[in-house]
Amino acid sequence: MSGLPSATALVRAVQTRDTTPQALLDVALARVQAAAPLNALVSVNPHAAQDAAGVAARVDAGETLPLAGLPIIVKDNINVTGTRTTCGSRILDRYVSPYTATAARRLQDAGAVIIGKANMDEFAMGSSTESSASGPTLNPWDPARVPGGSSGGSAAAVAAGLTAVALGSDTGGSVRQPAALCGVYGLKPTYGRVSRFGLVAYASSLDQIGPLAHRAEDLALLMNVMAGHDPHDPTSLDAPPAFRTGTPDDLRGLRVGVIRESLDGNTAGVTATLTATLDALHSAGATVQEISVPQLRYAIAAYYLIAMPEASSNLARFDGMVYGHREPGSDVTASMTLTRERGFGREVQRRIMIGTYALSSGYYDAYYSRAMKIRRRLADSFTAAFAHVDVLVTPTSPFPAFRRGEKTSDPLAMYAADVDTVAVNLTGLPALSVPMGFETVDGTALPVGIQFIAPALNDELLLRVAGGLEGLGAVQARVAPAYA
Ligand code: GLN
Repeated sequence: MSGLPSATALVRAVQTRDTTPQALLDVALARVQAAAPLNALVSVNPHAAQDAAGVAARVDAGETLPLAGLPIIVKDNINVTGTRTTCGSRILDRYVSPYTATAARRLQDAGAVIIGKANMDEFAMGSSTESSASGPTLNPWDPARVPGGSSGGSAAAVAAGLTAVALGSDTGGSVRQPAALCGVYGLKPTYGRVSRFGLVAYASSLDQIGPLAHRAEDLALLMNVMAGHDPHDPTSLDAPPAFRTGTPDDLRGLRVGVIRESLDGNTAGVTATLTATLDALHSAGATVQEISVPQLRYAIAAYYLIAMPEASSNLARFDGMVYGHREPGSDVTASMTLTRERGFGREVQRRIMIGTYALSSGYYDAYYSRAMKIRRRLADSFTAAFAHVDVLVTPTSPFPAFRRGEKTSDPLAMYAADVDTVAVNLTGLPALSVPMGFETVDGTALPVGIQFIAPALNDELLLRVAGGLEGLGAVQARVAPAYA
């Protein structure tokens, strides 16, 4: 592949008849096949060729489609009619979606061709894409390492250039953290900016669908199509998207706050990348100051005490009676019990149990309601911070990609990988991970991501900042060397 994949360029080429949706699909499928050892995809969309033909007919009929013929991969917890939607779980291994999620449907209506479903941690619970029933996804930069999670398949797919863009979902960092560990962009929009209709729920007050890409303009391309109110999702906001990328001019006078609580505990390469990012912003005329968000130290605890109870409630529907896999039993209770015992993996079972416990009478006040108070305080601190600055900055992850198996036996170590990302979900804010550098570990260059956080509904600002950094030549987006 020559140059950085560009969704914008592919769409233009289809509109000018320099290529066809079918030709783009063939290239993408060939790349998927060549990258099979990464295990980035759970399944290929059996209707992709038909979809490409449909788009070609619309282009031939003179329609101008914002995403004409653009191949895209979506996470396997996003329903697409006629595709398997396993959520990385045995319990849904044969489940075929009878409908399409609004976000995916808007992309298709605009001409995108969904070529397959991306691997993920089971029910989006994890930070490494090791808990999938379909086996782990490998990091294209180093196959001995994880791609991050839970949208690890989407991030690995974009990092290996299988498609220029992909969709993930982000409940506590699952778009941003794998984006950081794979060296691509990942956007978590403001809660409600993108419809959740058709996204299999993990923790409904935190979940958001977001795009991954190599270029800020490609994120803008997708967001302008996907975002906006959806009558099927009552939490979706009526905030029409107006995304564009910026130039270095957008950085002049920008007030940047680096969150003090995110400065400790990072690897040397992450610290160096953060410093280089702040220097670049400063050189372009931004002002940089430190800002404290004291409740950040409680964010992980609060997040898991909110996410797990919501998950325990959301996952009650998977009992073998309506969706997916069913184990036989002497009566309905025995069947449901066995179905859940065999259908769910260990981490999902752990979370259902902890979540149910935290909601139970006597423990609700000690755990769940205290976590909700921290959530409130955290939101107040962010509001106070945004009185002084336009954007906040932290590393996306305190370390680059870790080795497979390194954290699987220690759930708390795995949860700690989200230390910089969960606060944004608790408060509903938009945040973007930008590929800003590398850290060489054991002779291998591993990507490092920097996170930008904006006030609610200021998602557009994040892409202008990213475009500004691109204009300065500061962004380090590239396809992983083995796939370039
Ligand atoms: N790693 C976090 C968790 O396991 C976040 C997952 C996500 O955003 N879906 O809950």
